Amino acid sequence: MTKRKLTLSIDENIINLSKKLAAEKGVTLSRIVTNALKFFIDPNVYCFSCGKKFRIKTSSICTKCGWYICPSCGSCACSLREEGARVAYYMRKTLMEVFLSQDI
Ligand SMILES: [Zn+2]
Ligand SMILES: [Zn+2]
Repeated sequence: MTKRKLTLSIDENIINLSKKLAAEKGVTLSRIVTNALKFFIDPNVYCFSCGKKFRIKTSSICTKCGWYICPSCGSCACSLREEGARVAYYMRKTLMEVFLSQDI
């Protein structure tokens, strides 16, 4: 894969703290940004029922609960009890905030 430089404008404090933490964890900022952008353009999620990873781009949405249907086991949020549905909702909300997107 051909790599290119990407210039971003990011708050200085965030850059400094990110570089420090990335160095501590032994990863590069380029790798973190690449992973985040890969997820942004083609989100892969784990099914909360069978645990298999699937692409939401190629998955159907349940008209009843509005969640993606796992292509392996057919589960959506309808298969969760109240507490599990709440956990899934807030995990999804967290991802939507990180990626400023409703499509996760
Ligand atoms: Zn599944
Ligand atoms: Zn459903």
